[in-house]
Amino acid sequence: MSRINLKSAATLREPTELVAHGLASAADLPDLEKVAARYAVAVTPDIAALIDPGDPDDPIARQFIPSAEELVARPGENADPIGDHAHAPVAGIVHRYPDRVLFKLVHVCAVYCRFCFRREMVGPGKATALSSNAYNGALDYIRAHSEIWEVILTGGDPLMLSPRRLGEIMADLAAIDHVKIIRIHTRVPVADPARISAEMVAALKVEGAATWVALHANHARELTRKARAACAAMIDAGIPMVSQSVLLRGVNDNVAALEALMRAFVECRIKPYYLHHGDLAPGTAHLRATLEHGQQLMRDLRGRVSGLCQPDYVLDIPGGYGKAPVGPSYLSQANSSPGEGELDPETRYRIVDYCGDVHRYPPKP
Ligand code: SF4
Repeated sequence: MSRINLKSAATLREPTELVAHGLASAADLPDLEKVAARYAVAVTPDIAALIDPGDPDDPIARQFIPSAEELVARPGENADPIGDHAHAPVAGIVHRYPDRVLFKLVHVCAVYCRFCFRREMVGPGKATALSSNAYNGALDYIRAHSEIWEVILTGGDPLMLSPRRLGEIMADLAAIDHVKIIRIHTRVPVADPARISAEMVAALKVEGAATWVALHANHARELTRKARAACAAMIDAGIPMVSQSVLLRGVNDNVAALEALMRAFVECRIKPYYLHHGDLAPGTAHLRATLEHGQQLMRDLRGRVSGLCQPDYVLDIPGGYGKAPVGPSYLSQANSSPGEGELDPETRYRIVDYCGDVHRYPPKP
């Protein structure tokens, strides 16, 4: 299983390299070494080129350049913030919902995000990929559970595998009758778009199951010309794409940034799918927004872009209880106002329009 090609020799992995490239300050080096001893660091040339070293608040740097704030763990933070371990029947599988499983093939990524919810499980020093035995055990588990309709390849980043190995895995999964959907979660098209070669695209297509790709990106600047071309290569080959983003303080926690990101996805023919509330991963409090702010951003976004550009704002409930939509609700029961008397059952709802104005539903005659 360990056919992983970490081919980007120029990827920056050491704090000293970040300093040498002007992406971190020499004064911060002792702290950054401490962070790097605990959590993986990798910044690909494509991502490094996006960072403006002169901007101390650069939204790309904030996602990938380590910070001393990661050394501060807050109450409630957890090494397994979304409860993967509570639903892991065999190595490599997370079976949280009846009709789908996560299949965690590899534990390495092209880049390491500073807010990663699996930061204690990915990176050098962890096993890079499932052993052959574990891989076969995971396949046996999927074969034995006919309710599994969708297999979600995640990790780590599955597109770190070679096209040949990925093709073998896709074929193994598609050969299972009840597996109809194979979804791949990846950051590679933005972090290292050259990996999306013709061979990789061919490997993603398989007889017997539909492939979907979910792209993780958090700022419109990540959708460079090369990233857009990588996505277009997959979509033109008949692979539909959806997006997932994380709401991040100082990266996309303002409506203009979110609007630009969602518009960029749709321009690339990628349907916005999830906006995740930041998980309680250790040392990530400085990057988390509040739920109230996230809800306000979703209200603001609804006033500015079409439904095509709207993601679901979701929270993974700590403990492994799954995702819940936490976007603002637009419909509520109307309480009778003083002097209004008994509520007319026909006008018992209040509904909020995209400008924030409130209406009764059905309208009063
Ligand atoms: S690419 Fe995904 S798994 Fe890898 S570090 Fe980023 S968020 Fe974590």
